[in-house]
Amino acid sequence: MCLAECLVEWESLFEGDVGRAQDMHQTILDAVGLDFYQEKYVQLMYNLRRNPALLQKDAQTLVRMTDVELAKGTDTEKHMERQARKRRKLQRVVKSCIHIFGQVEDEGGEDDVEWIRCKRCKTTNVSWTQKQTKCADEPMNVYCTCEKCGSRWVI
Ligand SMILES: [Zn+2]
Repeated sequence: MCLAECLVEWESLFEGDVGRAQDMHQTILDAVGLDFYQEKYVQLMYNLRRNPALLQKDAQTLVRMTDVELAKGTDTEKHMERQARKRRKLQRVVKSCIHIFGQVEDEGGEDDVEWIRCKRCKTTNVSWTQKQTKCADEPMNVYCTCEKCGSRWVI
């Protein structure tokens, strides 16, 4: 997409307000330069389309806002919060994993992963695998299977 096309997109976003479109366009160019224009354009266009409240802010303010600030109060923010929660959960899992495997080594190597317990039958005889869902930057899910009663769940 070339700059002229971007300008047209700004015009359509601002409902034909050419002055505002040019101001937005020029403000981005001044702030990040030609090399990063596209990146900033995509970020702002994405957020402005999804979050009409942002349209009340001026170009200078918008250009300086971070992804997190732009996403405030939107589905994107909720999504990012969910992702952050998932990451924290995984970090806890990994921590306890390191803890347990450290212990297992000290005790001479047991296969049981003691920190995962089946909710249905309370056994710790649970096997698990980690799988990447969708994109690489998302945290991994831990898929658990109870070896005793066959219960399956995801952490
Ligand atoms: Zn079970």
